[in-house]
Formats: sequence, C-alpha cells, structure tokens
Amino acid sequence: QDERVDVIVVGAGPAGTAAALTLARAGLEVVVIERGAYPGAKNVMGGILYRQPTEELVPEFWREAPLERAIIEQRYMLLTEDSLLGVTYRTQEFAKEPYNSFSVMRGEFDQWFASKAEEAGAFIITQMVVEDLIWEDGKIDGVRTGEEEGDLRADVVVLADGANSLLAQKAGLHREWKPNEQALVAKELIRLSEEEIERRFNVPSGQGVAMEIFGQSTKGLLGYGFIYTNKDTISIGTGALLSDLIETGRNVSDMLNDFKAHPCIAPMLEGGELVEYSAHLIPEGGWHAMPRLFTDGALVVGDAAGLLNPINREGSNFAMISGKLAAEAIIEAKAAGDFSAVGLSRYQELLEESFVLQDLYTIRNVTPFAHARPWLLNEVPEVLSRAMREYLTVDDDPKRVKQGKILRILRDGFPVGRTLGDAVGALRLLR
Ligand code: FAD
Repeated sequence: QDERVDVIVVGAGPAGTAAALTLARAGLEVVVIERGAYPGAKNVMGGILYRQPTEELVPEFWREAPLERAIIEQRYMLLTEDSLLGVTYRTQEFAKEPYNSFSVMRGEFDQWFASKAEEAGAFIITQMVVEDLIWEDGKIDGVRTGEEEGDLRADVVVLADGANSLLAQKAGLHREWKPNEQALVAKELIRLSEEEIERRFNVPSGQGVAMEIFGQSTKGLLGYGFIYTNKDTISIGTGALLSDLIETGRNVSDMLNDFKAHPCIAPMLEGGELVEYSAHLIPEGGWHAMPRLFTDGALVVGDAAGLLNPINREGSNFAMISGKLAAEAIIEAKAAGDFSAVGLSRYQELLEESFVLQDLYTIRNVTPFAHARPWLLNEVPEVLSRAMREYLTVDDDPKRVKQGKILRILRDGFPVGRTLGDAVGALRLLR
C-alpha cells in the first residue's frame, strides 16, 4: 500500500511553498517534493521581491527573512550605441517600514520561506524528482518519483514545478509553450564590496537601486536588460523572446557580454568578480497562453501555469498568491469532500477575483503591441538621444536655431502617421 497524504506539492519555489504553508496552517497533511539540494538551489531569479504579496503569507517578513537591500530607487533607461537616457524615481518612503520591495537571493530566501512552511507542519523532501503522475479512476491520485518505492498518493497534487512544467503537460493541462511565448534570460552575479556598491549607486547601507534598461541592452529585441543591487553583489542580466533570438541567430550570453561592456554600463561593474552565471526560460505568453488551471485531483500554480507579469517583473509574487489561492481552494474542496475538477474550480474563481488574473488580462496585448513596433526599441531611443544631445550641447547656435534643429530631429524621428498609430494602439492597450 502506497503512502497517502492530503496534498502533494511538486516544487519548493515561491508558488509551491506558499501553497504548502497555507495548507499546513489549515491542518492539512502536506508533502513538498523538491528536486534541488535545497529550496531555491535551482533558482536564477534576478531578483526583486515586492513586499505586499509576500506579507499576505508572512506578516512583517522583512524583520527575519534574508533580504539583500530595500529598493528605494527605480531607473527606467533607454540605451543606444553610445548613450543612456531615462527617468529615475527615488523616494524615502521606500526606505522605511513597511518598505515596497527588496532585492533577494532566491537560494537563501526560498530556504527561509520553506522553513516557515515546515514550522507550520509541512514536510519537505529535497533531492527528489517527481517523474510522473499517478492516475486512478480518471483522477490524478499521486506522484511517481525516481526512488524505489517512491510512489506517493494524495487527494490533490499541486503542480508548482516552474517554467515549462512537464507535469502540467502530462496532466493534460497545457501544451508545450511556443518560442514566442517564452523569454530566455541570461544573468550574472558580480561581486563588489558593500561600500563600493553604495558609492557607485549613491545609496546608504541596506538600500538599493533597480534598473530596467531597454534598447541596445537586447540589441533592440523585445525584452530588457536589468541591474539590481544586492548586498555585496550586482545582478545583471538581459533577455529576449526565444522566437526573436532564434530568428536573429543571437544568443543571450553574447548579448549579456555586450551589455556589460557598453561604455555606459561597464563603469558600474568595473573591478567586480564574476561569481555566478545562469540562463533560464521565463513564461511570457500571459493571458493568451494560459493553460487550464485545474483538473480532477490537480492544480497548477506559478510559473508552471504561466502566471507572470514580465512588465512589472512580477513572477515571485504572482507565484506566491496563486499558491495561496490554490491552497484555499483545496481547503474548501476538502471540507466538501470533492477533489474533482468541479470541486477544485474555486481556484479559478479566486484567481479571477485577485490581481493575478486581472493584471494578466490588462497586459494581455502589450507584448504583441511592442513586438509589432520594432522601432520602439531601436529608432526611438536613437532619436531621443540625438534630441537630448542637441539640447545639451552649447555651441554658437542661438537657442532659436537649436529649437528648430531639435524639432526637426523629433519630426523626422516620429513620423506623424506612425506616431498617431502608436498612440492609438497604446490607448487601446489600456482598455
Ligand atoms: P520556481 O521558482 O521555478 O520553482 C519551481 C521549483 O520546482 C524549483 O525549485 C524546481 O527545482 C522544482 N522542480 C521542478 N521540476 C520538479 C520535479 N519534477 N520534481 C521536483 N521538483 C521540481 N520574478 C520576480 O518576482 N522578480 C524578479 O526580479 C525576477 N527576475 C527574474 C530574473 C530571471 C533571470 C528569471 C529567470 C526569472 C525572474 N523572475 C523574477 C521570475 C521568478 O523567478 C519566477 O516567476 C518564480 O520563481 C516562479 O516561482 P515558482 O514557484 O512558480 O517556480
């Protein structure tokens, strides 16, 4: 007779752990199976973690969780061949409790988060791979691991196995994602002393900066480069849609090397020691590529379900909230004694009520909009840079002549028909 528990969670990322924590707190018997040596061991996130969704699971977590820096400054930049321009927002509001977001090392954060689930009563098994699902009477009834006598049975299996979930495919919940529904991102961790980071980014101890950089950071492909300050490392990365990388024959490692070597970027990293390189897929198909979220005996959460907002770099918080809501649906299903698709369908309703599905719907056409307009990440940064350079250069032109030159640059760079089309398209995006 196989072992049996209430719920098996596959994957101890933020989605799986949030589910396990919520279930264990409600008194359900829950086992989490994680293939890594420890939770977070396999994670390559940049990354920035927002405070509010995390607090829904662990109030005031910033007092005890391993966090790198509280992010007090956000820069959105455009990079051309030889210039960098953009907007910076910095506020002291983000420098004090309850804070807004933090840079985190997921290897450390995930272990801490998983320890919260363990404290609540969840049982976490590491270094074990779930290879298949067990079906009984047309319902998913457990998982098969690679171990001897490694079958484990449960009323519900939560699939939290991350991007490109093979198990969700096996469960018949979704197909393999297409290259235009996922981004490939390369990331490096560069070590610098804490003091040096604080000097270069003009922040006090414990506080940091997040930068998203568009344009030449991806060689003009749809995607972006990022730089986040950690305690004594800098996360730097870049990535683009897999389909565009395949089509243009570019690879993300070269793209990252060029980004790091750019004269506007290199001084931020100078003298730093490379401590880690990784590359990973991010599901970016969003609303249009979303799988079925539940079936008889199973639910899919987080990246495995493609629940991610790439525009606001919200992956971990979508993962956590979806895991929490999946757990709440399971708790209701247990009370009703119904673990069929009908019994678990409450998960979809809860997600629809939350910001997760509402946001995915709101941004559903942003990627197709931007992808159809390659000039936004190519010509537009160039034009704005030329106009800015003209404005800032003092020569013997009287200002009236200069204004004329700037207007000509802008008029030529923003053809009326195309710009009107972009504006109307952008307004439609907001509907
Ligand atoms: P994951 O965190 O991927 O966890 C899945 C877990 O399942 C893993 O631990 C894995 O080992 C385990 N697993 C998989 N298959 C099996 C199996 N068969 N058996 C057992 N265990 C298994 N998000 C943000 O919020 N902010 C950021 O700044 C950010 N930056 C990012 C930068 C990069 C370079 C990348 C790649 C992603 C970034 N993300 C960011 C996205 C974020 O990492 C994900 O959205 C988030 O980790 C999703 O959580 P998850 O729990 O669904 O999946």
